[in-house]
Amino acid sequence: MGQAGRKRGKRFIFLLFVLSFFSALMAVQLPASSQDILIVLDPGHGGEDTGVIGAGGLAEKDACLDLALRVKKRIDQRLGYPTLLTRSRDLTLSLKERASQANNHLGSVYISIHLAGFPDQSFQGFGTYTFDPSQTMLFSNKEMTPTLPQWDAQQLPHLESSRRLARMLHETLQNGLPEQRDLGIHAMPIYPFGALGMPAVLIEPAVLTSPIQEDQLRQVEFKEEIAESIFQGIDEWIRSAYPGERHE
Ligand SMILES: [Zn+2]
Repeated sequence: MGQAGRKRGKRFIFLLFVLSFFSALMAVQLPASSQDILIVLDPGHGGEDTGVIGAGGLAEKDACLDLALRVKKRIDQRLGYPTLLTRSRDLTLSLKERASQANNHLGSVYISIHLAGFPDQSFQGFGTYTFDPSQTMLFSNKEMTPTLPQWDAQQLPHLESSRRLARMLHETLQNGLPEQRDLGIHAMPIYPFGALGMPAVLIEPAVLTSPIQEDQLRQVEFKEEIAESIFQGIDEWIRSAYPGERHE
């Protein structure tokens, strides 16, 4: 290799260095591909665990599954991303099994659908919940350093995304159910949310112990309004979490 060749060689190596530096930078900045999106829908309770039962006999487990299937149908038809239902029928399923399913399938987002129950039958509305690690911290040594067992610490890197997801879903519930009372967004030590390695929220779009809301939950129109609101929140979250991807 002559003088000119060595110069070209050095320039080439420098160019390679610059290129690899920028591609590393790009790899950090580029969002995950929408091809990786897996939406996990978790209909609360199931099987022997009925959840709340309304005065008229409607079980939370059945109403939650009904709502989750309506949300899934919208995702299938309008987004086309795969959905994982933690249960698609009346099945007893532990909370840990639900979290394992979501983690093992590398879920991108976890939405648990429940209905609220209150001793006061006049209480109605919708609420949204995220995981609050502060109340589940275990103190493992004399310095009182808060630590969580690894299984229960997987939600920690996703707390901010979960809060953002909660705000989006709550807002679409506010818009979709303008007649309903807003019971707010709350952080709670929900089991097994600490174990979920993805943004996760629990929503209670209605209160089943309210006879008025139990009646509403038997009407297709109300169920469709709830499902549409949840769908809108998921759609909005995907658009913000995966910007630049083509969305129909
Ligand atoms: Zn429940």
